[in-house]
Amino acid sequence: MSLYADLQQLGSLNVDVPLAGRTTLGVGGHAAMLFRPSDEEALIQAMLFIPQETYLFPIGRGSNLLIADKGIDGLVVDLSDLNTLETKDHTLVAGAGSRMSKIAQATVGSGLTGLEFMATVPGDLGGGVAMNAGAFGQQVSDVLQSVKLLNRNGQVQTVSREDLDMRYRYTALPQGELVLSATFELAEKDAKEVKQTMRDMRSKRSETQPLNLPNCGSVFKNPEGDFAARLIESVGLKGKQIGKANISDKHANFIVNQGGASCLDVLDLIRLAKDTVKAEKGVDLEPEVKFVGCSL
Ligand SMILES: Cc1cc2nc3c(=O)[nH]c(=O)nc-3n(C[C@H](O)[C@H](O)[C@H](O)COP(=O)(O)OP(=O)(O)OC[C@H]3O[C@@H](n4cnc5c(N)ncnc54)[C@H](O)[C@@H]3O)c2cc1C
Repeated sequence: MSLYADLQQLGSLNVDVPLAGRTTLGVGGHAAMLFRPSDEEALIQAMLFIPQETYLFPIGRGSNLLIADKGIDGLVVDLSDLNTLETKDHTLVAGAGSRMSKIAQATVGSGLTGLEFMATVPGDLGGGVAMNAGAFGQQVSDVLQSVKLLNRNGQVQTVSREDLDMRYRYTALPQGELVLSATFELAEKDAKEVKQTMRDMRSKRSETQPLNLPNCGSVFKNPEGDFAARLIESVGLKGKQIGKANISDKHANFIVNQGGASCLDVLDLIRLAKDTVKAEKGVDLEPEVKFVGCSL
């Protein structure tokens, strides 16, 4: 059987799929193939059919991605249907495709604290672990116990947090491995307080971030002891437009798509901000957004 027929049995497989609509920035070309396994078992089996030389890219909510205009010449794996979510005592186990907002909601229901920030981050669990997502003083690595990983040979292993070298917006996932699920160890807290904290975080977000326009969250990591937004603003680039993209005039570490922006527009703005901050402030800003098929 062909790869196409094999994967069709284990979920859905489509060819030449536009990716821009699968990212929050709304930028990017097509995927040669997009596979959406029906569940965890199907994904494990699929690994046995996917040739090792096929470029494989796991996509979550696409909220931290800048995808090239030429797209992805490989197999994009959409893990949305690996969305199981269970809480038991102080433990929460979530599948890679679980929306972080849903995970946050589950912690309210169980009176658990530690993942309130997930109510404000528009991604899935797999992307959250891969990026060590965080906000408001919390991050995935603070409460993560272990991650279930799948390698290209179809083997599954559980790895503890200590073995993942997790740092600010960085997780050392073994090369080419996919997050299937993650287990969190959380503390108890009054559900009303947990809910209130999430409300406060959400309203702070909408006051300070350009959430009405497509964007990919923070473009750069904050350098030690400073803020990327402050630096970009201080070199006069707030509001700067190239093509159909601009540095947000609400938050200078956000680039927004005014409609029809190309990857090149966004890359040019990123280069401009990085080079100007380096030249005028001597600070080397490191991108937080993941470049897919493109680079600075
Ligand atoms: C408005 C807005 C606000 C944001 N605020 C924050 C914030 O406060 N804090 C923060 O940390 N981030 C923030 N982000 C960025 C983004 O939401 C996070 O990085 C999020 O964790 C990405 O999850 P995702 O599912 O969208 O991953 P994607 O963007 O789809 O992918 C990100 C990376 O994870 C990899 N990946 C995805 N799934 C898997 C998997 N199952 N196994 C292995 N690798 C995988 C991808 O290949 C890619 O390299 C924000 C983004 C937006 C648009």
